[in-house]
Amino acid sequence: LVGVHGMRLESGPAPAPVALVLQDVTEARRVEAVRRDFVANVGHELKTPVGALSLLAEAVEDAADDPEIVQHFAARMRHEADRLTRLVRELIDLSRLQGGEPLPELLPVEVDTVVAEAVDRTKLAAAAKHIDIAAGGQGGLVVRGVESQLATAVTNLLANAVAYSPAGTRIAVGARARSGFAEITVTDSGIGIPRQDRVRIFERFYRVDQSRASSTGGTGLGLAIVKHVASNHGGSISVWSEEGLGSTFTLRIPLAGRPAPAGEATPPEA
Ligand code: ADP
Repeated sequence: LVGVHGMRLESGPAPAPVALVLQDVTEARRVEAVRRDFVANVGHELKTPVGALSLLAEAVEDAADDPEIVQHFAARMRHEADRLTRLVRELIDLSRLQGGEPLPELLPVEVDTVVAEAVDRTKLAAAAKHIDIAAGGQGGLVVRGVESQLATAVTNLLANAVAYSPAGTRIAVGARARSGFAEITVTDSGIGIPRQDRVRIFERFYRVDQSRASSTGGTGLGLAIVKHVASNHGGSISVWSEEGLGSTFTLRIPLAGRPAPAGEATPPEA
């Protein structure tokens, strides 16, 4: 007889806990299928820039006497190499985050610092599209976390807001305390996300529109990384969006304690 968790309830030779074994096999098969898909996806994603680099190198060889053409192809090679670098960096980030490694010690982290770092990392891309990033909200919030991971998560959200917004628009990033969490929101007035895609965008390599995404240089890994950072911290990520109007992503991370020292007044929670 097999009880809960495969414990034997009666004496006598123990029959194998068949249901549990079957469940384990099913889970192992599922994990294996996910791993196979992932490796296939990585292979496919790497093939595109590597193939382009190889073709461009050939073109440079053929045009060696024409400095202008060489210049043109060299610029495109740099673009492909940048894309490859980003893909590899994001793959490493993702494998660290989901590799089951213990999370580094969670320390008090200032949300303002995280937001400022993320704005800093995206301001050049924003300026190139004449997009203004306005940081606001409640200052002085402190969460418990890993600063580098949180900065990566907010950077990914801001980078997407820039990538999927038309030139000349505005992005707002801010934080507020709510029910024991810091809610960090990134709001854009960009193209928005169709309803049927909203739950899937957090999957690895999922993109709403392949052609649109490849023109933005996206890898399809940014939001998967955000999702892992949120869950590593005991938080969450959610999205509100309206096609043609824009999107708001909300990252919730547990607050470390009292948000602001005396003197830096924090408005009471709404
Ligand atoms: P990518 O590198 O392609 O941006 P992400 O994982 O960061 O990958 O995002 C997945 C997909 O979600 C994107 O390809 C895009 O279609 C959609 N998306 C993400 N953020 C936004 C946004 N702010 N506005 C519109 N679409 C977005």
